[in-house]
Amino acid sequence: MDLATPLQYVKGIGPARADMLAAKGLFTVSDLLYYAPFRYEDRTNIKAIAELAPGEKAVAMAQVCSAKLSGFRRRAPGVFEATFQDGSGASLLGRWFHGESYADSLVPGTRVALFGKVELERGSASRLMVQPEVEILPDEPGEHEALHTGRIIAVYEAAGRISTRVFRLLIDRILKEVSMPEDALPQSVRERVQLPGLADAIREVHTPSAGTDLRFLNEFRSPAQVRLIFDEFFWLECGLLVKKTHARLAPGITFNVTGRVREQIKRMLPFKPTAAQRRVMQEIADDMKRPHPMNRLLQGDVGSGKTIVAAQAAVIAIENDYQVAVLAPTEILAAQHHIYFKRLLGGAGYTVALLTGSSTAREKQQIKKLIADGLVHATIGTHALIQEDVNFARLGLAIVDEQHRFGVRQRLELMRKGTQPDVLVMTATPIPRTLALTIYGDLEVSTIDELPPGRRPVVTKHVHESAIEGVYSFVAQQIKAGRQAYVVYPVVEESETSAVKAAEKMHEHLSTKVFPALRVGLLHGKLSADEKELAMRAFKSGDIQILVTTTVIEVGVDVPNATVMVVEQAERFGLAQIHQLRGRVGRGAHQSYCILVTGKVNDIARERIRTLVESSDGFYISEMDMKLRGPGEFFGTKQAGIPGLRLADILRDSDVLEMARREAQRLIEKKDSTELRAAVRYIQEHWQRRYGFVQVG
Ligand code: ADP
Ligand code: MG
Repeated sequence: MDLATPLQYVKGIGPARADMLAAKGLFTVSDLLYYAPFRYEDRTNIKAIAELAPGEKAVAMAQVCSAKLSGFRRRAPGVFEATFQDGSGASLLGRWFHGESYADSLVPGTRVALFGKVELERGSASRLMVQPEVEILPDEPGEHEALHTGRIIAVYEAAGRISTRVFRLLIDRILKEVSMPEDALPQSVRERVQLPGLADAIREVHTPSAGTDLRFLNEFRSPAQVRLIFDEFFWLECGLLVKKTHARLAPGITFNVTGRVREQIKRMLPFKPTAAQRRVMQEIADDMKRPHPMNRLLQGDVGSGKTIVAAQAAVIAIENDYQVAVLAPTEILAAQHHIYFKRLLGGAGYTVALLTGSSTAREKQQIKKLIADGLVHATIGTHALIQEDVNFARLGLAIVDEQHRFGVRQRLELMRKGTQPDVLVMTATPIPRTLALTIYGDLEVSTIDELPPGRRPVVTKHVHESAIEGVYSFVAQQIKAGRQAYVVYPVVEESETSAVKAAEKMHEHLSTKVFPALRVGLLHGKLSADEKELAMRAFKSGDIQILVTTTVIEVGVDVPNATVMVVEQAERFGLAQIHQLRGRVGRGAHQSYCILVTGKVNDIARERIRTLVESSDGFYISEMDMKLRGPGEFFGTKQAGIPGLRLADILRDSDVLEMARREAQRLIEKKDSTELRAAVRYIQEHWQRRYGFVQVG
């Protein structure tokens, strides 16, 4: 048996068990070695029943004398009680609520180990354990007994019918028979972090030695656990950094930023850039000047003015005789970018085209030809832009807006349209640092941390739906003052249909009953591109005063005269999403409002809404969002979360992640060292597949 042996061939695991393990992602001996317990119990305090003292936590090993299930009716949960004896003269009562499942297994004569807190039954002197942990023991004390009692034991998540006991047994067997994986952590790192060696860590995680602090174990902070967590992060971060270094050294386009380029940019700018915009622009220009590809993430809160920065980068590329592609997640955003870029770049004499799924076949063909002939300088598009038959003559700069709506693959597909083009991805969802380190760890990051001058924070209020009339009259007031409003309905992931229905119904209701005298428009994802554009244009020009819509307007829409954002069923949105929506207002000189309407909500939902009411800091909100929903959910279905992490958890272990990142950085800086070479080889052999997106060298 070695680490790569398929589990099916391990003694005690046949095809059936192997299937159950496979369903948990466990295929090889090595997988099982790294299958870490999720909880630990102190089972050192073994006592005879007669010696059990009330109040103490202890282990009793005894036999079932009698058992009964009571109060078990069709709906009511049953209470299962059993008495146990161990020959010490006293007996122990065990009581389980919802205990039906025990009735079959705890029949008289069964030997068990019970773990729990000892109490005295009220009004009697007999000892009792309520809801104790129970493990069925073999009839005769077996050779493996010591595995499960008399020490701190590990509790594993069951897999199919494979119980924690079976896991303990299998892993014990493997620990005894297999030679441990090599400890590839570079010596210098080991010396600095002072964590146990890999083999010791693995052993300790499964079978903690006597005296290990149980609280540390259950908080995943024993040195052994930290070592394994550190490993996962360290190799991930090394992989990302190696990838980043390689990319930074690959041959790429050297853009020249000449006096003329600067002139062109200056002439194009419709306003004075903020200091933050100037700083990130400089970072981008410096990066584009290097003879290597740029891979940069531009993040900044919603409304911070990323688009103009992208336009400046576009000018650099175009002036160097290259084409620019801008990928946007929705048709509305693409259309709007098209207008924006056309105004800016068109004014400077460049040609700008729009390519989306709803362009007619003829249009598409024409545009594609222009792109292929190099006659279009900048092309804005949706997914249609990354179709196979779109060929650029000289793509030099690929821009991906709202990167969080795309996967890594789309970014790569766009990049392949050129030869080592520079890449700028933008996101308005500020990314919690831990996520940025794990998902975007291979990108350079530029951050706009300042809003354009004159912005007033949006006043945010939480309103119960029973008070909706008040909201409507407030909206009416704002409209009377010349402003405009959005009313937004949530979209259930992947199916917009129900939100569309709700929006349609509300549009009907609002336009005929509530605001019969006002112009109420409707915009949702199921409309044709023309209808969408018409609605957007009408709202922009003020023809529509109230826009009833779904989250299609979440990103990019820019109508400075709109001052009210009413979010219906706000409890059904993610925090970052509402923050995005809120960013649609507060773009002009007038005070703006965001009204979050909910039904009756539970404590967590109220907490989430309160976060929004109290904070307008996108970073803080996205941290909270990730904490409340978990990193996988955070990006919706588009980003599959972080692959390959088993024991490590980016929320719980962010401190270890930071440490791992630092160490990885240190190692990468030792260019050409034997340590680094060995590490790269190790990543290629052991981690590349697991962290699928990390293609190293
Ligand atoms: P986001 O970062 O959310 O994509 P945009 O690029 O859409 O933000 O910019 C938001 C709004 O702020 C736009 O109307 C834009 O014209 C305006 N804007 C951006 N930068 C400045 C600036 N330096 N001064 C004034 N207005 C600006
Ligand atoms: Mg934007």
